[in-house]
Amino acid sequence: MRVTIIGTGYVGLVTGACLSETGNHVICVDKDEGKIKTLRDGGIPIHEPGLESIVERNAGAGRLEFTTDFESAVQSAQLIFIAVGTPSDEDGSADLSMVEAVATSIGKAMNGRKVIIDKSTVPVGTARRVTELVAAETEHEFAVVSNPEFLKEGAAIEDFMKPDRVVIGTDDDYAIEMMRALYAPYMRRGDRLLVMDTESAEMTKYASNAMLARRISFMNEVAELCERVGANVENVRRGMAADVRIGGHFLFPGVGFGGSCFPKDLKALQHTGIVNDMPMRILESVSAVNADQKHLLVKKVKKQFGEDLSGRTIAIWGLAFKPGTDDLREAPALTIIDGLLAAGASVRATDPAALEAAAAILGRTENLTLANDPYEILDGADTLLLVTEWNEYRSPDFERIKQALKEPVVFDGRNVWNPKLAESEGLTYHGIGL
Ligand code: NAD
Repeated sequence: MRVTIIGTGYVGLVTGACLSETGNHVICVDKDEGKIKTLRDGGIPIHEPGLESIVERNAGAGRLEFTTDFESAVQSAQLIFIAVGTPSDEDGSADLSMVEAVATSIGKAMNGRKVIIDKSTVPVGTARRVTELVAAETEHEFAVVSNPEFLKEGAAIEDFMKPDRVVIGTDDDYAIEMMRALYAPYMRRGDRLLVMDTESAEMTKYASNAMLARRISFMNEVAELCERVGANVENVRRGMAADVRIGGHFLFPGVGFGGSCFPKDLKALQHTGIVNDMPMRILESVSAVNADQKHLLVKKVKKQFGEDLSGRTIAIWGLAFKPGTDDLREAPALTIIDGLLAAGASVRATDPAALEAAAAILGRTENLTLANDPYEILDGADTLLLVTEWNEYRSPDFERIKQALKEPVVFDGRNVWNPKLAESEGLTYHGIGL
């Protein structure tokens, strides 16, 4: 099939690359000329494991193209995905200006029958709005489908290639058959395509993210209570996860969730609740607990070293909001760095993928050094904080850490280190809820 993707970010590029992998001819469009040039020159603007080789192979075979020419990309496609950003507006609602602008431009460029697919995360009613905007510009036949994306950054290729489910929101029979055909190669072991009305499809995405975020905040609260009553949240977690009704996913306490999705999607769903006279009380708590959680490591550091951290140097391993990505949007590391600097500390931080992104945001910050080598930044530092649990940080050389640090204290913000092992090397170990 001939597919065009509008918006070549995390979602658009992964979607385009993975759709070209099964033989579709895909054109990825972006208004960012620099991004398109990078892709045309063989570069990849984001860090996503496995993406580079898929892009290289399919671009080389002529099945995957990159362009800024919106009109001809729309005209050559049977299926057009909208995958532009939907950031939070000031009132917490999803800012739909990019989606709406794209819908109008698609309407203007239409030259025949098309299926237009909302892949961006958008509030209930957006497919209807997109339909109105396109219809205002064209007489050509079209259908609008809500097809929310559930991929996880860091595992996006695997998620796209083997989805748990594909949600299709539309009542248009032609669009349903086109979407079935498009996704069939990704679900050969069983049909996991869920066809429903557009409103339910739009809501499914928000409700899913809200549920996952709720599990994290709940476990963060349980962890805090464990510390106060003398329980160990890792034991509690394993005991809970063994119950098949609960399961083991998203039960890990830590430094709070970040990323481009959970925080903004929670706000948007809360906003939908408010405008429908139904405040989402559970979500208010989920967000509030998470906001506090991002300050937890700094509180622990101050408990150890005192409120005034001037003269202290603190090393941080991991900046990205989670392993496997260079995405720093709403990353807890940013809140932690702010808190440490505000208390007078100097900070040295490293990350296997997000240093460039961090330099763009924090590059000129006083008393902050960004560096490549996780052990070099420990030399003469007072303490080490593990913030993002990249694989390469999971089995560290505790002896080397002990020798490099001025104070033999480590803070494991993800509970991935073995406390006994760390302590046997003479380190004082602080985790979350232990
Ligand atoms: P992103 O910011 O990485 O990418 C969006 C891209 O759209 C940018 O490159 C931007 O230049 C481009 N763009 C904006 N307006 C355009 C226009 N008029 N024409 C062409 N290109 C345009 O965003 P993302 O992380 O890929 O997210 C996209 C959507 O998918 C959001 O609604 C997000 O909530 C949702 N989503 C994201 C993830 C994720 O993990 N990142 C997962 C599921 C859903």
